[in-house]
Amino acid sequence: MTRVQQIGEDALIRRLAGLLPSRQDVVAGIGDDCAVVRTGRHDAFDWLLKSDPVIEGVHFARDAAPGAIGRKAVGRVLSDLAAMGGEPLWALINLVAPPDTPVKRLEGIYRGAASLAKRHGMAIVGGDTSRGKTLELHVFAVGRVPRGCAVPRSGARAGDVLYVTGVLGGSGEGRHLKFEPRIKEGGWLCAQGWATAMMDVSDGLATDLRRMTAASGTGAVLDVAAIPVSAAARRCRDTRSSLEHALADGEDFELLLAVPARKAVAFEAAWRRSFTLRCSRIGVMTKRSGVIELKDGKSCVPLTCRGYEHFVTRADS
Ligand SMILES: [Mg+2]
Repeated sequence: MTRVQQIGEDALIRRLAGLLPSRQDVVAGIGDDCAVVRTGRHDAFDWLLKSDPVIEGVHFARDAAPGAIGRKAVGRVLSDLAAMGGEPLWALINLVAPPDTPVKRLEGIYRGAASLAKRHGMAIVGGDTSRGKTLELHVFAVGRVPRGCAVPRSGARAGDVLYVTGVLGGSGEGRHLKFEPRIKEGGWLCAQGWATAMMDVSDGLATDLRRMTAASGTGAVLDVAAIPVSAAARRCRDTRSSLEHALADGEDFELLLAVPARKAVAFEAAWRRSFTLRCSRIGVMTKRSGVIELKDGKSCVPLTCRGYEHFVTRADS
């Protein structure tokens, strides 16, 4: 019998997706940061749908500050809305909690969720509660983009330049609980039409770039010296290099995007005029479908390290 841990997340999703119904008004279903649906023939907007679980022992430790847990739960869906260029609108939260959970802890969690949602103009309009063995928050969010403007993962072409916002790696040191979803930047990229493809980096650049190249039918070459390794990744003292941390740790919640080469210079200037956040030019899309390489000076080696695997426990990997 095949177990989930043997095939991994992407193969599991492909198998399950094959079982599910669609409709004519679905613009983009499973396989991107959000689903995109269209409700009316003359609507000015497309709707973005996203849900995401945050579970004790998987996404946060038992002793994490309540406000940070709620903030992370909402931040994760906001990051996926940002990855499509979306504007957040409404969210529902399903809460699963053991009966002996202090009410005060839950209030703290909801205060954290509410404050981040409010800052990005998103209302939290309902949800449900259930008893369960561990504390879990399941957030479902709706956002919107101007009709036809959602930025998919699949639009990159060979020659497009790759960029990533912020810094990567070492998010387990604390950034995974207090990251800033890139709503403003994603909305700007969508409105200005710079990006041919975009996604958020949730499972590590290595894994997520592989997903973008697979969706776009391209390969990629990453410039090692240009990868923005975080200070936290440099501080990690273990068997892995800080570069490996930047490529594989996950939960960076930065934006990975592709811009046509002829627009790259203008894009970089426009970005600098609009944001103080860094946006690093980290590589280029290539024709060699599925091949991702790391360029270090003159030598080029295949990218072998992988990002976070949801169904593989750290002890197995
Ligand atoms: Mg995502």
